[in-house]
Amino acid sequence: MDAYSMSVTNATLKNTSKIYQDLKISRIPSLDRSPRGLSIMDRVLKQETLDPGRKPHIGVVGAGLAGLRSADLLLRHGFRVTILEARNRLGGRMCQNRLSNGHLVDMGPNWIHGTVDNPIMDLAKETETAVGSWDNRSYVFDEDGELFSLEDGTKYSTIVWNIIEDAFEYSNKQGSDIDSDKSLLDFFREQVTIKIPETEDGYAKKRHVVLQLSELWGAFVGSPIDKQSLKFFWLEECIDGETENLFCAGTYQKILERIAQPAVDGADIRYSTRVSEIHGKSTAASDTVKVKTVDGNIFEFDEIVLTTPLGWLKRNLQAFKPPLPDRMSKAIQSIGYGCLEKVYISFPKAFWLTPSEDSRTVQGFCQWLSPKYAPDSNPEGWTNEIVELASLDDPSISHPTLLFYIYGAESQHVTSKIRSLSGKNERDEFLFAFFKPYYSRLPSYREDGPECQPSGCISTDWLHDDLAGNGSYSNFQVGLEEGDKDVRAMRAGVPDEGIWLAGEHTAPFVALGTVTGAYWSGEDIAKRIAQSYGWLGRVDN
Ligand SMILES: Cc1cc2nc3c(=O)[nH]c(=O)nc-3n(C[C@H](O)[C@H](O)[C@H](O)COP(=O)(O)OP(=O)(O)OC[C@H]3O[C@@H](n4cnc5c(N)ncnc54)[C@H](O)[C@@H]3O)c2cc1C
Repeated sequence: MDAYSMSVTNATLKNTSKIYQDLKISRIPSLDRSPRGLSIMDRVLKQETLDPGRKPHIGVVGAGLAGLRSADLLLRHGFRVTILEARNRLGGRMCQNRLSNGHLVDMGPNWIHGTVDNPIMDLAKETETAVGSWDNRSYVFDEDGELFSLEDGTKYSTIVWNIIEDAFEYSNKQGSDIDSDKSLLDFFREQVTIKIPETEDGYAKKRHVVLQLSELWGAFVGSPIDKQSLKFFWLEECIDGETENLFCAGTYQKILERIAQPAVDGADIRYSTRVSEIHGKSTAASDTVKVKTVDGNIFEFDEIVLTTPLGWLKRNLQAFKPPLPDRMSKAIQSIGYGCLEKVYISFPKAFWLTPSEDSRTVQGFCQWLSPKYAPDSNPEGWTNEIVELASLDDPSISHPTLLFYIYGAESQHVTSKIRSLSGKNERDEFLFAFFKPYYSRLPSYREDGPECQPSGCISTDWLHDDLAGNGSYSNFQVGLEEGDKDVRAMRAGVPDEGIWLAGEHTAPFVALGTVTGAYWSGEDIAKRIAQSYGWLGRVDN
């Protein structure tokens, strides 16, 4: 998940919140040797048939966070682990790249969602990864490109977040009665008339602005607000914490290295090894799972942990022999997959932090609502959003860079255009021109100012990355009928066939679509496998 997160479940409501109930039941304590937490299918008590001299061999497909964390715990429990990774690097969607100003930036996640009871926050502290945050001031440009006063920007933004909070509560309580075709936008349309009654001066314009600003939700889930399911909006609620969100300003690099280390030390990692077929145990007499790669190699394992992204599973259902059970195939097809992309644009100096003639600066988040002033490059009026990285407290990690978040049709447009251009210069020029209508409206911009000329940029293209599932992370879109059951169906995997699923799409509800969720899912699946062999708690983890 990206850009924003919020939690509406305070401590007193945790007992009734569906996401916290799920967290309680879905996580297996490390030392729990009992069958609690195992599904009926898991209880195969494999140790009875196991040759005591042989370590069960587990294949982990994918070396993203889920794969790396599961490998760590499987190794600690005494399993032999081989990781098959299609890329030539570790981390999957968690990866970095360097800007021309020398600063390293995250191409995938860069927020830590939740500061309490979050292992990723603990790892950030352990690895001395710099984190940052901004206050709640809102900088918003209207559709004509005028910057609202800070007071108005904050007022509109507060209304939007209050409606989002109400939507979480409504979805949490009334979910079963909500029509699956209802979107978050529908809820906004209803609520805005209540929050801004006709008796208020200029109510029509105010409502219009709030509806435009509600589009910022798209950058959180990677899909437009009219596609966000209201029925399953409660599944988008995130882990809470004192400060809710922290920007991982020092990048996720050291955290990734720390998570990967045990697998690097103890597992056999096969890079550039792309899995194309998975033959479950019922297809062989030998009680093994067979995994075929695109170059024709066949690997045989006692079990596999499959961590390929949801988008990959959607496109590769035919890879499973026998086919996955109907309920799981349906789940894979039903859960949505977003397409959040990032574009970093650097400048020689953070001109937007220099007060303009009317004493304005912009710090942290800023939005340009449904622009009417970029008809050539943005005829659809896609709302744009940045977080600027120059005002982070720590000077060692702040830099004069704007990070644009784009999603939906704008992601499609920008990534396709970039792919059609051959040289780096051409691509940079396209991006500079495409985003100029927005950065050129920031305070203290001067058309001929050397400090205002972009000096470098990097953009992502997860949409065309098959190994990322051609998108960013799972989300919950209109039309979804059984979102919670779908996630549970994926989580269950097919243990009878030796196929166990992990990844952000199988995480506890409270962490779906996040780094923490991927990490927990890897941990949970390793524990379930250890438990099915009667090995859980054999080692201290
Ligand atoms: C743009 C963007 C922004 C994000 N922002 C945030 C954020 O701010 N905070 C947050 O918490 N989360 C964020 N996320 C989500 C977070 O990155 C993911 O939830 C998490 O990294 C997923 O980890 P994973 O192990 O489930 O999957 P992955 O990291 O995708 O790992 C899967 C691995 O499987 C490999 N693979 C795929 N197919 C095959 C195959 N056929 N054979 C072999 N290997 C294969 C892939 O190469 C990959 O290494 C963001 C994601 C994106 C894309």
